[in-house]
Amino acid sequence: MSGMRKILIISVVMATAGLAGVVVQTLAEAVLGYTDTPMLPSGKWHVHDLNRPRPPVVTPGASFSQGAAAASDAMVLFDGTDLSKWEGEKGAAKWTVREDYMEANKTGYIHTKEKFGDMQLHVEFAEPEKVEGDSQERGNSGVFLQYAYEVQVLDSYDNPTYADGQCGALYGQSPPMANACRKPGEWQSYDIIFEAARWNENHELARPAIVTVFQNGVLIHYKQPLLGPTGHRTLGHYGKELPATGPIALQDHGNPVRFRNIWVRKITEEERP
Ligand code: MG
Repeated sequence: MSGMRKILIISVVMATAGLAGVVVQTLAEAVLGYTDTPMLPSGKWHVHDLNRPRPPVVTPGASFSQGAAAASDAMVLFDGTDLSKWEGEKGAAKWTVREDYMEANKTGYIHTKEKFGDMQLHVEFAEPEKVEGDSQERGNSGVFLQYAYEVQVLDSYDNPTYADGQCGALYGQSPPMANACRKPGEWQSYDIIFEAARWNENHELARPAIVTVFQNGVLIHYKQPLLGPTGHRTLGHYGKELPATGPIALQDHGNPVRFRNIWVRKITEEERP
């Protein structure tokens, strides 16, 4: 168990009747973080550091971009009716489509057929209303940009986990600047501005990928460079040159997380004056 600490979550319920006491204990184990993982470049924290402070809880405004209609130049990736813009790891996308949303159902990741580089991406998600599991096992999913970099989706409403793995984290790299989560069952939004990594003519990294994210109208990342594609318990790094574009993927982590109203606008690098 070198370096890994398991936290026992102990709920003690006491019911007393007169002088007689009844004690009921339920035990569950949740991994809340690690200290045996590689050090991040800042030299302050390990990947998934158990001791890294979690960001402050911020209650988002009553509404932000939930239900936001797409602009005329946006590509609608999911309007609530079908998965025609998506495919699975082996063939057709098989997530459940119901009412105006899709739901992960243990059939694997799904990803867009179209590939994207720099983009403005709108995604809405809802955590399972029925709260089950702790830490990373509660409402885990994720939005993968270029099928490489994960913006974590997790039920982080009163659910401690390592800071760089909570909802809104650039998984394994950067915690969100705030915990702006809504309650389980409520619709939430991500508005993501992504700039793909740039490579020079020698196929060396010229500039890392950069991401800005709003969760429910709260800025949680601002022009944050990505260390490389997402890993688990490993340090993100750029290996060989990545393609300029890649699919958007949604993670099936075994929890019934819902998504709706997904659209994207391709953007080009803004000219400097
Ligand atoms: Mg995830």
